[in-house]
Amino acid sequence: MPTLTERASEWYELFNRYAGDLYPGRYTLERCRELAEMSDRISELAARKQSTIIAHNYLYPEFHEIAAQVGDSLGLSLWARDAGAVRVDFESVYFMGATAKLITGDDTRVFVCDAPRVLGCSLVFGTDHRWVEKWRERNPGGIVVTYINSDVAMKAISDYICTSRNAAAVLKAAVEANPGKRVLMCPDKYLGWVTRAMAGLSEEVVEIYEHHFSGFHACCYVHEKVNPASLDRMLDEHPEAELLIHPECGCASTCLFRVQNGEIPHQKAYFLSTEQMLWHARKSPAKEFVVATEKGMIYRLRKEVPEKVFYPVADEVVCDFMKQNTFEKLLRSLEEDRIEIIFCDDCCDPREPYTDDRVTHIPRSAGRLAMAAIDRMLAI
Ligand code: SF4
Repeated sequence: MPTLTERASEWYELFNRYAGDLYPGRYTLERCRELAEMSDRISELAARKQSTIIAHNYLYPEFHEIAAQVGDSLGLSLWARDAGAVRVDFESVYFMGATAKLITGDDTRVFVCDAPRVLGCSLVFGTDHRWVEKWRERNPGGIVVTYINSDVAMKAISDYICTSRNAAAVLKAAVEANPGKRVLMCPDKYLGWVTRAMAGLSEEVVEIYEHHFSGFHACCYVHEKVNPASLDRMLDEHPEAELLIHPECGCASTCLFRVQNGEIPHQKAYFLSTEQMLWHARKSPAKEFVVATEKGMIYRLRKEVPEKVFYPVADEVVCDFMKQNTFEKLLRSLEEDRIEIIFCDDCCDPREPYTDDRVTHIPRSAGRLAMAAIDRMLAI
């Protein structure tokens, strides 16, 4: 068992080797020692409270080191269910914790380390549930396909959920199972455009939600920052590199168009979910990659595929919501058992769930409808 000083040195070396350029100045020896100290207390409390810590790819490197599992939101939720976790502390954003609660049900206690508005998401804030309900009235029998990065209320009024990995397959299946019906894809317009094109479906059949709500565009504000110019600049600097593009990126639809036009060579640009990026990087003959997704993923790619080189597409591709997770908050959450996501007997509106500094609610009826939409995806 390494001593505290040995672990602090090990983290100092590791974080600066794989993430020094991503978070300049963050990992001093002193900070690594504080993190190592807190991690001891976190492990002790987690063991006492039978908690399994899981962390999203986009979190700071220290979370990658202490989590039992690192991944995307659906993968982590299914992992927690299959592992039969008694309690999970889900280090991510609030809606991901809620998805884990839907999937694990009453068997698992699910905690997040801060309030839902703090651990927010521009996609969730930018979704107008009432607009979608009105769309259904205008399109009787219409089918709603919703990206998993959405809240429980949105999932509850959806027919199918999809991820960035399976979006085209789910969209095709939804259209085939509902001939003659219009389909609305929401809330991320970039993912919607790319998916519709990849599935070979027309605008007449698939409409994309493209609205503003409460000051947010209906897209991931982090991926929206990735534009074609930043990709071109990186490709000029690294002409041998392959492009790994998350389909939520602001450049994704333009890139897809340019690939189809032959402007970007077909074998150079790949539209991939975060987990697919790892698989692709391992098996590709390429030695260098420009990665268009949140910077947190670069640490995981560099650590798990150390023989290859990964460049972030731009410095500013950082999610401030994800980065609200800190060891200090996790420690407090474990010490004080807050904030737990619980099912309530429909005491509140799922669009504005009851929240205080200890719990936040998922109305049970909305939870059942949301889970039915997730199950339809899992069955495809
Ligand atoms: S990266 Fe984008 S989709 Fe993910 S939590 Fe942040 S804002 Fe939301």
